Amino acid sequence: MSCCGGKKTVIVPNKKIALPKAVHIGRQIVAGYAKALLRITPPYQPDRIYKCKECEEVTYMTKLEYATWLLGHGIDITKAGYDLEKVKELPKYQKNDKRKIRYCRICKCILSIKTLVQDAKCPLGKW
Ligand code: SF4
Repeated sequence: MSCCGGKKTVIVPNKKIALPKAVHIGRQIVAGYAKALLRITPPYQPDRIYKCKECEEVTYMTKLEYATWLLGHGIDITKAGYDLEKVKELPKYQKNDKRKIRYCRICKCILSIKTLVQDAKCPLGKW
């Protein structure tokens, strides 16, 4: 199951329709980016960020390293049905002057965005 919750339903005049997982995840990511752009800090985010910062599965990468990793694992990602949790973990790097963006090695999410998404879940159940 994806960290972002899988299928979600919407109510359309007396009918429940299951949204495809990709649509739901896409909407959640857009919502996360919107909150980041508007500098909205939901009450649940500081605790999530703290737990991620302390977690052994956090890694720091540049945007280029992350994009290169995604491209290099394109076949595996396709085989996994675009469920990034099923793909090999991101490499473990420490934060430095270049590697400043915090990612989860397991779900591969950018944690500053993921922690803003209300329905998002830690793949290890830490939050
Ligand atoms: S989402 Fe969970 S597993 Fe990933 S870095 Fe944060 S606390 Fe760790």
